[in-house]
Amino acid sequence: MGPGEAAPSRAPAAPPRSSATPDAPTRPQPPPRAALPAAGRAGPRVHLTERVGPPPAFSLPVPDTTVSKAALAAPHHDYPASDLMVPGGTPVFAVRTGRVRVHAGERCGVGVTLVGDDGFSYLYCHLALAAVKTGSRVAAADVLGLSGDSGNARGVPHLHFQVRDRAGRSRCPQRMLLAWYGGADVPSTAAPVAGCWFPRDRAA
Ligand SMILES: [Zn+2]
Repeated sequence: MGPGEAAPSRAPAAPPRSSATPDAPTRPQPPPRAALPAAGRAGPRVHLTERVGPPPAFSLPVPDTTVSKAALAAPHHDYPASDLMVPGGTPVFAVRTGRVRVHAGERCGVGVTLVGDDGFSYLYCHLALAAVKTGSRVAAADVLGLSGDSGNARGVPHLHFQVRDRAGRSRCPQRMLLAWYGGADVPSTAAPVAGCWFPRDRAA
């Protein structure tokens, strides 16, 4: 099941039963499928994918069904970042393994900053809600929240995705986004610091 395909919607899952009932089958049962939460009622941690084995090393920040290569390659308006025009309520995913911080402000709105184990930080803005708590460890492809139009998104739901290096300098995420879309990875250090914004992009 792809990350963008929701299981049939249902009430938020109850905590797993901690002990077997007397007539419980002895065979192990598969874990329940995670349901895609409706906007505004995500649980604290939601996994849309049924993971077998270790988590992936990387993930697109949105379901691959919601973006095109052209959208992933598109420049940002005036500094290195990417605006992914996904509908409100779209799950957004951790691109790498790391630790998260949840914040709120006038510009970013409801935001999540993921400090990756690679030392780079990945900023997600304009969310409808965050599905993680500050300080939580996440793995790549974990759901961080749902997209929306909070902050200065001007009523247009989209995910603002921004990558900063260890020095706090913004890097162009387009090359990484395209690689992840194609199922490959590139080190964040390979992301350029210029070449991805309008209108007259100049190398610094
Ligand atoms: Zn933006």
